[in-house]
Amino acid sequence: MPTSPSAAQAARTTLTVDEALDRILTRITPLERTQIPLGEALGSVLAEDAIADRDIPPFRNSAMDGYAVRGVDVQQGGMRLRVIGAVAAGAMPEFTVGAGEAMRIMTGAPMPDGADTVVRVEDTDNAMDVVTITRATPPGLSVRRAGEDLRSGEVVVAHGTVLRPAEIGVLASIGRDRVTTIRRPNVAVLSTGDELVDISDDPGPGRIRDSNRHSLTAAVRALNCSPFELGIVRDDASDLRHALGNAAFGDLVLTSGGVSVGDHDHVKPVVDSMGAMDFWSIAIRPGRPLAFGELRTKRGNVPIFGLPGNPVSALLTFELFVRPALLKMAGHTKLHRPRVKAKLLDRIEKPTGLRMFARGVYDREDGTVRSTGPQGSGILRSMALATCLIDLPEAPASAEPGETVTVILTDLPEDH
Ligand code: AMP
Ligand code: MG
Repeated sequence: MPTSPSAAQAARTTLTVDEALDRILTRITPLERTQIPLGEALGSVLAEDAIADRDIPPFRNSAMDGYAVRGVDVQQGGMRLRVIGAVAAGAMPEFTVGAGEAMRIMTGAPMPDGADTVVRVEDTDNAMDVVTITRATPPGLSVRRAGEDLRSGEVVVAHGTVLRPAEIGVLASIGRDRVTTIRRPNVAVLSTGDELVDISDDPGPGRIRDSNRHSLTAAVRALNCSPFELGIVRDDASDLRHALGNAAFGDLVLTSGGVSVGDHDHVKPVVDSMGAMDFWSIAIRPGRPLAFGELRTKRGNVPIFGLPGNPVSALLTFELFVRPALLKMAGHTKLHRPRVKAKLLDRIEKPTGLRMFARGVYDREDGTVRSTGPQGSGILRSMALATCLIDLPEAPASAEPGETVTVILTDLPEDH
């Protein structure tokens, strides 16, 4: 029986998971730098060294509500000091604090000259004219030095940092209303298959709802990338060509379905006609057929992943191959999720010669992992129940209870 060209090529090109990932990452490069408002920068990678424009805090100020005093005056409890005024946050002190004097002061208010210590209001009788110190206070207590947080001229958030709320706060405190980041990838997502209907439509006989477009779009969004959906494309070469023409406006294209060697699998030949597609048979379960290539456009080549149609395979190959690629594109240097060793609690059967990624639930307290149950590539619940992937090597035909296995913690961000 004659073999189809794609089947022949598939037979030639069986890659390990690591080889496939290597090839992908070699071809992906970070996007260009772009200036964006700070309010949109959460999750982006900073593409500049952010430098403090002044000391933070800019002036000596009180860390407590209380009384600004001379430290020598409050070395013992019971001292009585004359209150010469008050200073609130945002105001400037009007007097210098002399010996035997105190100024009421609020948290964040500038320290008056002469004072070097703040006695907390709780350690006084809170009086207005003459205050009694009820507890001795060490000199210098509750005073924040100018520049104790950030020094003027210092790099306070370095190039390459992923911006979390804390970094956003630091950038705000140095007045950065715009920051230079690596541009966030725009990702085109489309589903292929004559059997698919939109989730708001009634499937009818022989049809199913298109779940991949939604899971993949969400996976893109969870990475701080911007998805744009191109809907369901029929198993028809010219429809697919048209859709990919639109998809190529993105920085990366994701299709699902139609990458096997069935009669209606058009992704590979169509992409070949618009660029170049490698069709890989990866020694993996689930997710064996995966296509990766590029669409030629006027702007340059746009990487495209043809993910398998089975819902588990689509999401799993996204996790293993697309996610690191998008992270690299977005300027991240940590591309891989944390891995730990765990004791397997139940038996998992697997095909010999294929690396298997079983969906599991990891128990951090006990250091154990169990499978989520049936592991078929259409059983999307196995993915929904999972907190981790159990990474089982190619060779054995099963993993047994009590064995130590490698677990990928898919609930945690990349650590290497
Ligand atoms: P394919 O890779 O096109 O051969 O599809 C493999 C299996 O995945 C078939 O059972 C399809 O019906 C199913 N499938 C393909 N695309 C989707 C989708 N977008 N949502 C849900 N199931 C899908
Ligand atoms: Mg199909």
